[in-house]
Amino acid sequence: MKRKKRTEEISLQSYAFQLRKLLLNNCSLDRLLSYHQLHQEFLSLYSPVIKSNRLSHSDRFAWKFIREINILNLNFLNREREENRRKTNSQSLGVYQNLEEIIGKVQSIWFPEMETPPNIVWLKHFSTRKLAHYAKHRDEIAFSLVFDSIDAPPEILSYLAYHELLHRQVGTRVVNGRRYHHTGEFKNQEQLFPNWRNIEERIRNYISVTK
Ligand SMILES: [Zn+2]
Repeated sequence: MKRKKRTEEISLQSYAFQLRKLLLNNCSLDRLLSYHQLHQEFLSLYSPVIKSNRLSHSDRFAWKFIREINILNLNFLNREREENRRKTNSQSLGVYQNLEEIIGKVQSIWFPEMETPPNIVWLKHFSTRKLAHYAKHRDEIAFSLVFDSIDAPPEILSYLAYHELLHRQVGTRVVNGRRYHHTGEFKNQEQLFPNWRNIEERIRNYISVTK
């Protein structure tokens, strides 16, 4: 049984998710301004708590996202962003990172024989376990929201894109009814990515040292 949450209790993650949605939908200035109040409350409520408390890794990323957003920064309402949204599959456009661009670049360099792009979306949470994912039945690559950050290293994003595109290319091997995704063949090919060992280390750091 799950404990019922009090309705006025908003979690860091759900607030960050709502905030993100609002920004991505190019909401009106009026709505942004009314949200500003709530945003300030969150910032003042959580900043002192964060220092003494131990947050889960996911909560840390949600908090980082909330803190990084300057809700009154008019960049979020600018025309370039609006243009981008029209040109891009909107599901793949983050507040900071454009997944279509990142994955498209990796695909053209490493998988030029792939004729079509996969569907590309952001996961709906700040997952630090599932960082990225390829769903074959939907032909879809998804990235965790922990990477929709201003300082997500491009090298990490490209490596993850490579990993998921490789799943798309290699597929799974079924042995005695069990599916294997990370086969020897998969790993051999994965390690063709330049600097992969170092990038895996950077990913571990990125997840665990978030402030
Ligand atoms: Zn994998």
